[in-house]
Amino acid sequence: MNKRVVILGAAESGVGAAILARKQGFDVFVSDLGTIKEKYKAELIQRGFDYEEGRHSEEKIINADLVVKSPGIPDKAPIIVLLKEKGIPVISEIEFAGRYTSAKKICVTGSNGKTTTTLLIYHIYQKAGLNVGLAGNMGQSLAWQVAENDFDYYVIELSSFQLDGMYEFKAEIAILLNITPDHLDRYDHNMQNYINSKFRITQNQTADDVFIYCADDPVLNHELSKRKLAALCIPFGLGAPPAEGAGIIENKMIINWKQNIFTMSILDIALQGSHNTYNSMAAGISGMVVNIRNEKIRESMADFKGVEHRLERFLKVHGIEFINDSKATNINSTWYALETMTQKTVWIVGGIDKGNDYSELYDLVKAKVKAIVCLGLDNSKILEAFRNLGIDMVETQSMDDAVRSAYYLAKKGETVLLSPACASFDLFENYEDRGHQFKHAVRAL
Ligand code: ADP
Repeated sequence: MNKRVVILGAAESGVGAAILARKQGFDVFVSDLGTIKEKYKAELIQRGFDYEEGRHSEEKIINADLVVKSPGIPDKAPIIVLLKEKGIPVISEIEFAGRYTSAKKICVTGSNGKTTTTLLIYHIYQKAGLNVGLAGNMGQSLAWQVAENDFDYYVIELSSFQLDGMYEFKAEIAILLNITPDHLDRYDHNMQNYINSKFRITQNQTADDVFIYCADDPVLNHELSKRKLAALCIPFGLGAPPAEGAGIIENKMIINWKQNIFTMSILDIALQGSHNTYNSMAAGISGMVVNIRNEKIRESMADFKGVEHRLERFLKVHGIEFINDSKATNINSTWYALETMTQKTVWIVGGIDKGNDYSELYDLVKAKVKAIVCLGLDNSKILEAFRNLGIDMVETQSMDDAVRSAYYLAKKGETVLLSPACASFDLFENYEDRGHQFKHAVRAL
């Protein structure tokens, strides 16, 4: 009898996993507690999968040999608790897909910068003519691609939730960008649990593999001092370049890899700001490791278009520049946004606070911000945090109001920055919706 794989969650990763599981000869059952999106339901029906929605029927799930779960389902969900009690292995879609491809996997994790770095690496590899796929939180799921259109390389963005469901998976190139507090609610408010989760990106690596990490990150460094990693560890940082790794000398990015030296002025790199210098260094190293020519890497770093909602320089209205950084949902990412500002800035901030300590931003706010526009259902914590800095503050509860207020407060030559440091769910569907509403309001000025 065939082995039975049950897939929990029927969206991009779940349906991809179902397709791959069948191709590998498993009996497949798909179960989603919510409503399945039309697009995915159509796939399941057309391909004749046995599936259910709106419930998890225990009797059809606990007879599984293996369960593939969507990263959105928490470990504490009753069905997962039950499966674990019964000793049935529960893995992530990436783990599952990784078992059926011999492609080289370049995996990117970190608290911030994953999407940007993943897309930049993908861009570099594509421009170099490699047969490369993009997976993780974007586009088609890894499982779907492995089933229907396998590549030689995959660049994969991995959140800690995905990493938590990974056991045998190995990244040939692993990148850890930074570790700052985020999602701690899912880690019993224990930072070490979150750190351990991020370090799963190095599990199963051997001496033939590469681990690329930020040498300037204190949390990461402290953790590295406690671990002995098998992979070749390649650091990047803003200091002088190490014998093998990346650094900066007088505004020049330098990467040393084997006998090869890559150099590029950071002024020529499309992604600006020191956080993006880190991201570019990580991407550059991953290009050199697979022997892409320096010229190609340089070209790709210069013409990369950036990613929507990440410090996106959107529009100038009467000489005032509007920047959309809606994806900044924690203090660290907003810190880098403010640091990047070169003009006086009217800063739009607020939303659902995940336990922010705003005092980390005081110095930058004093140096760069001329006015603060609070945008959230409850702005009291922000008002309280910045009250004593002597900066103009206004309170708003809609994007239209926030943008109009900011426009009114800013002068020609200045900047309006939406970098909320908070999640968006109080007033918006998600950060994309928040960013789109921002752009819409700016266009309407
Ligand atoms: P992620 O996928 O990890 O959420 P993104 O690339 O979507 O990361 O960027 C999220 C936010 O973090 C944006 O506001 C972006 O400007 C900021 N950011 C990007 N790279 C970094 C970095 N290396 N360190 C800190 N913040 C960053």
